[in-house]
Amino acid sequence: MTRPDASPAASPDPAIAAARTALAPPARFAVLTGAGMSTEAGVPDFRSPGGLYSSRFHGLHPETVLSIDYLRAEPERFYEYLRTRLAFAAEPDDSYRMLAELERAGRVGAVVTQNIDGLHLAAGSRRVIEAHGTLARFSCESCGRAADAAGMMREGAPIRCGCGGLIRPEVVLYGEGLDEIEAAFGVVDEADALLVLGTSLQVYPIAAIPQLFLRAGKPVVVVDREPTPYGGDAGAIEINAGIGATLRRLFA
Ligand SMILES: [Zn+2]
Repeated sequence: MTRPDASPAASPDPAIAAARTALAPPARFAVLTGAGMSTEAGVPDFRSPGGLYSSRFHGLHPETVLSIDYLRAEPERFYEYLRTRLAFAAEPDDSYRMLAELERAGRVGAVVTQNIDGLHLAAGSRRVIEAHGTLARFSCESCGRAADAAGMMREGAPIRCGCGGLIRPEVVLYGEGLDEIEAAFGVVDEADALLVLGTSLQVYPIAAIPQLFLRAGKPVVVVDREPTPYGGDAGAIEINAGIGATLRRLFA
């Protein structure tokens, strides 16, 4: 029985070798993460068939419910949706901890994430650009006072602040702009290389970041179970495998 992942030394893999070289010190690289990173840590995959994005709520599509207009018009219903459909318990896994460790060692400059679960910060990464915001922080939209996120996800908890303002998750809703997008694109100038983990790179504008690295002549390593538009002739070093196993081969 052959187990190709069991013994990296016995089966030299050119993509792994190239990725190790591209990300070797003194290079300081940026990391871009997507849904695959979260799902390996146990967060449900909202966009999978049968997942959250394929089910309706009071006849409405999720993109309608998770919009700024719906939050304004139907705040109670909006919260019912958050609390019944978006509540999940997940902890950072070894992959998150490894990225935080690489940052402390000076090898990772910043993490840009499309995920809204707050796991990078929970794992100890410090420079995290949450391009789509986060469900791990809630605050009053009138006075800005922070509210306990776990408490806000509980059914029956008040959704109004003492000042009368509406408390909302600091997540980017449909119909809102990406506040962090400039910071996200800023990593292209700061970093020597880019490591992409668990995103099929189809949601713009974030999906353009690898392109900007390649255009600047900086290496891009993509780790995703499925082939992405950046593999093959497009110029990135692509590894179609799990994130945890691949990170161990790259950095152990
Ligand atoms: Zn308030």
